[in-house]
Formats: sequence, structure tokens, C-alpha cells
Amino acid sequence: MGADKNSLQEFAKLSGKELIERSKKLSKQYRIGDGEKFRLKDYDPDDSPDFNKEDKPIVKEILQAGVKTLAAMQDVLYSDNKWSLLLIFQAMDAAGKDGAIKHVMSGVNPQGCQVTSFKVPSVEDLDHDFMWRCTKHLPERGRIGIFNRSYYEDVLVVRVHEQILRAQKIPKKFVTKDIWEERFQDIRHYEKYLNRNGTLVVKFFLNISKKEQKKRFLERIDTPEKNWKFSASDAKERTYWDDYMNAYEDMIINTSTEKSSWYAVPADNKPYARIVVASAIISALDSMELEYPKVGAEKIAELQATKETLLAE
Ligand code: AMP
Ligand code: MG
Repeated sequence: MGADKNSLQEFAKLSGKELIERSKKLSKQYRIGDGEKFRLKDYDPDDSPDFNKEDKPIVKEILQAGVKTLAAMQDVLYSDNKWSLLLIFQAMDAAGKDGAIKHVMSGVNPQGCQVTSFKVPSVEDLDHDFMWRCTKHLPERGRIGIFNRSYYEDVLVVRVHEQILRAQKIPKKFVTKDIWEERFQDIRHYEKYLNRNGTLVVKFFLNISKKEQKKRFLERIDTPEKNWKFSASDAKERTYWDDYMNAYEDMIINTSTEKSSWYAVPADNKPYARIVVASAIISALDSMELEYPKVGAEKIAELQATKETLLAE
């Protein structure tokens, strides 16, 4: 698995159709499709070519080429105004969700894109079903919506800490050992429903290793500009690492489908993770077979008439 350095060097020179094809090939390696056979141990968090200092410009170039193509595709998505794209990011702390979102979406027209971060649910959120707060932020047609965390927290953090589940105000008779399987079922149905209505859901699990997380936590502690990003509770969550990994694996097994697929993105190498994410988004937009709306003969005649009037001024 993974890409070697030579093929990445080639990648940096591509544009248009060729870049789209190359993106599809790269991202496909990490696309789960039907999750039934998914096992986390088969996905190496460090499955990336060794970049050293001299490779940095190449990595940047690839990402820039990807971002440029993505921006052009978003323009067509917006003008077509039928599909929407929902990108969901889930990961352990310090895996690079924020950075991936920032870099990958950097060239995209802000008018066609909205990012929503989901933190601990509010009192108002808890007065509703667990999808409610996310439903309110689904992207409109023609837009890209990004969820930084999502309803998947309700089968991750809530599963790892069952006391959170008990604090949710669900009628007692529905809180049984089957609740996770039921939530998976609800999520599958919800995403199928969204898909049938023109929202393509693409999900990213940024797969960081426990060792790399430790390194990034130490960096956050040792760098004053990064101190704000770190809280003692992040280190506490780390002690539940194995429980989280089991929850992630079971989540992907049960909610990755051909139409709403998870990507297990190797996240120990940040630049590589960003290239994989950009490639997956390009593949998703390509699968929509978008075109600029074609205008009819009548409209063309109207444009011509207006042009003549303007020129005669
Ligand atoms: P941050 O890393 O700053 O985005 O922190 C957001 C926190 O909110 C994380 O610790 C999440 O686990 C937590 N969170 C998000 N959704 C839920 C949820 N549905 N129930 C409980 N905690 C949640
Ligand atoms: Mg955090």
C-alpha cells in the first residue's frame, strides 16, 4: 500500500483529467467501501513515503495542484445546484482534522462551503434526537458541508464512556445492549436517505498512531503558540485508546457502504494525509459527473441581443 516518492513527483506535474485519475487511484487505497471485512490492523497510520526536507516543495506542489482542481470542480457543483457534498472528519485528538480542513479547502470559494464543529452537546441539543444538531447544518444543494466531528461521536465517545449515554434523556426502555447496533442502523438509513436526495456523504477517519499522538501532545505542551490546543482531558482520553480503536473499527465495519464510504487515512504524516484527503474529495466530486448548466437557444439569442445593445451604447 502507499505511494512511493517517484510517483508523487509525477503527481505534482499533473492537472485536469490526469490529476483526477491519479487522485482516484491514490485515494482508492484507503477507501473502505462495504465495511464488512474492515480490520483496523490492516491500515498502517504511517503508510506514507518518507518525506525529508528536500521533498517539502513537492508535497506542497501536489497539494496546490489538488486544491486548484478541487476549486474548479466546486465551481461546477455550485452552478449545477443539484448535488451537495458532506465531508465528515472523525479522529483522535491531535490527528490533524483542523489542519486537513484548513489546507485542503484553502482554495475553495467560501460562498460554496461551510464548516461546522460539533463539541459536547448543549442542553438544547440533548432535548432532541442525536442527529438533530447535525441535520440543521447539512449543506444546501451546490455546496460543500464539512463536519468537524458529527453524529458519529454518538457511537464513539458516548460508547467509550457509557455514563454519557445514561445522561442523554432517552426513555429507559430504549437504552439496551442493542443500542449501538441500532444507532449504526439509523446512521446507515439516514445516509442512504441523504444520498437519495442528492447529498453525497464522504467520511474520513484520520488514523494516527498512539506514538505519534504522544509526540504531538508534547509539542503542544512545549510550544507556547500551541498551548491553547491542549487540555489535560485530552491526555485522559488517551488512556482509553484501545476502547476508542475498538469503537472506530466497529463503527467503520457497520457504517461504511459503497455509497457512503469511510476512508482510513494514514495520519502520522500530515502532508501525506492532506494529499489523500484532497484526492478523495476530488474523486467524490468526479463521481457526480457534474457539468455547467447548458443554456438553450432562446437564452443564447437573448445574450446576443443584450450584447448588441451594450455595444451600441
Ligand atoms: P474539541 O477536540 O475541542 O473539538 O472537543 C470537542 C469535544 O466534544 C471532544 O472531546 C468530543 O469527544 C466531545 N463531543 C463531541 N460530540 C459529543 C457527544 N455527542 N457527546 C459527548 N461528547 C461529545
Ligand atoms: Mg480537543
